[in-house]
Amino acid sequence: MTDPRAPQSPFTPSPVLPATLEGSAKLQFHCRKGIACWNACCSNIDISLTPYDILRLKQRLDLPSSQFLGEYTLPYEMEKDGIAGVKLRPVEGGTACRFMTPEGCGVYADRLTACRYYPVALLSMRHQDESFDRQVYAIVKEDHCLGHQEPRQQTIDEYRQEQGLPEYDDLARGWRQLILKKKSSGPTIGKPSKRSLELFFLTCYDIDRFRSFVASESFASIYDIPDDEMRALLEDDLKLLQFGFRFLRQVLFGEASIAIHAGAAAERQARVAEQRARIEREAAERLARDEEGDIAPDF
Ligand code: SF4
Ligand code: SF4
Repeated sequence: MTDPRAPQSPFTPSPVLPATLEGSAKLQFHCRKGIACWNACCSNIDISLTPYDILRLKQRLDLPSSQFLGEYTLPYEMEKDGIAGVKLRPVEGGTACRFMTPEGCGVYADRLTACRYYPVALLSMRHQDESFDRQVYAIVKEDHCLGHQEPRQQTIDEYRQEQGLPEYDDLARGWRQLILKKKSSGPTIGKPSKRSLELFFLTCYDIDRFRSFVASESFASIYDIPDDEMRALLEDDLKLLQFGFRFLRQVLFGEASIAIHAGAAAERQARVAEQRARIEREAAERLARDEEGDIAPDF
């Protein structure tokens, strides 16, 4: 019981329990129709979408990705890392999910990764001395959720299987790795330019526009992709998405895995060299102007 004389914390306590858990840890939880808190979790949402969540929902609603993003989501910048993210847009003027119905989730078979995980939180991380990512978990305990009081017990891995999460995690792994890579690069890479944020958004979230970009002449003039591979990419959203993650690793972090036409590579090098020379020239001119200004102030 809380001591009423204890000083009050100015911060709202986090519902995420501090322990990090392996998949073998036990979870006592059961969400079932008829429970007194039915739909409470969907009445006040703050949910980020993975690229695969978007793919599933836009296919279910039979919408082009740009229209789905415009009608059902809100863009945001993840933390302070300058990575483009997308959240589910709640009902107009409210906080509830637009897919909530009195019977429960109206898109249950295609519900989001975060909805499947709840009340488990996935924490992807990489130790400094490791070359692979680890999945660890935390438990989220919110007062309104009575599922924790139900007698059912299983491991987190069993719960993930039951919720169809291995598939969701596999197909979002490339995206999570990009985010981890950006976070671990920190100041070395710095805040990405507006152009690279836009490219990240287009590639990860707006798959139909990314398809048009990959099919364009300007893309073909740079990247050397065999015809049959290109056909397969353009016909299959999932292949295109996985290709998109490779493309971003190449463009943002220089991890080359997609062939570039020899001529395009040389042209690009020449363009970069020209750009660098221009930046240096402009900086030198600015410096010279500033120094002149110091000697003969303009007043
Ligand atoms: S998608 Fe379904 S489960 Fe997720 S918040 Fe909306 S109604 Fe709830
Ligand atoms: S038990 Fe928790 S997850 Fe299930 S309906 Fe209630 S609040 Fe939502």
